[in-house]
Amino acid sequence: MIARAPPRHRFLCPRCRSALTPWLRELTLGEAICQRANATSLLPGGFFAHRDAPLFGDDFFPPYESFPWLLAPLGEKWLAKHPDPARTVGCCGLAHHGEDKPNLRCPRGHDVGIGYRDCSGPHWYALHQEVERQSEPDPTPLADPAPKLDRARALVDHAPPPLAHFLGAGTDVFHDEPNQWLDALWLEAPSLECSGGQEAPSLVLRGKGLPDGQALFLPTPWPVLVRLLCLDEALWGSTDLPLTWQGHEPRTINVSRYGDFVLLTVDRRDPTGRDSVVFDAAEWAGAWARLRGLG
Ligand SMILES: [Zn+2]
Ligand SMILES: [Zn+2]
Repeated sequence: MIARAPPRHRFLCPRCRSALTPWLRELTLGEAICQRANATSLLPGGFFAHRDAPLFGDDFFPPYESFPWLLAPLGEKWLAKHPDPARTVGCCGLAHHGEDKPNLRCPRGHDVGIGYRDCSGPHWYALHQEVERQSEPDPTPLADPAPKLDRARALVDHAPPPLAHFLGAGTDVFHDEPNQWLDALWLEAPSLECSGGQEAPSLVLRGKGLPDGQALFLPTPWPVLVRLLCLDEALWGSTDLPLTWQGHEPRTINVSRYGDFVLLTVDRRDPTGRDSVVFDAAEWAGAWARLRGLG
């Protein structure tokens, strides 16, 4: 007998019933929560969790109990930033300034949430306890992640390959200016592997276009690998909200898609800029399908 799949959910504004989120799944896999890494979202994209859920440890928590529904940051078409800068300004991104000063609004301007996307700590959005939650059967239920987790643990349990870190290509390209993307280094036939163990995992990206003997080492928190390998998290973000993470080294990785192209940037080890590579979106999806054991 097949167990009934859990429903999917979305959240609506309690005043105007505008959708505040796309359909989301309720997170039940604690290993996909990232409570420490900077610039990384607390939860995987496409999921939500209630702050009282037993899967949270106690190392970090968004501080607001009346905003209990936690999710990864979403684009402005769902939740817009409040126009009052006193509620939103941080040193380099969206900051929060108290439970009485929500900084996220529904598309019609009602205060519904608090978000955080500044430099330190994980990034999160939190919705007010009075938002409406709607549920329906999930048309594409997720497969049991347990066998995928075993596979992910085996994949990461390898020494890094004997390659040098890519020494840089000069041009630094911005995610929100896709007309510049072809100035980045073009990578053909990208391939991915994991190494470093669960304590210091890295994705290792190779491809035609990198100098011989070099690869891009992408330090990646274990929970981020779990999301990408076991929960089918999206393989890229958008130009205004790239998929972003920071692993055991303070180097931020951003991945976004525009049309058929994917841009990946990674901070250099010396903090003077970023390496930028661009590739075909279908080839990136193929590299991940092989890593997920599907290709
Ligand atoms: Zn509203
Ligand atoms: Zn900052």
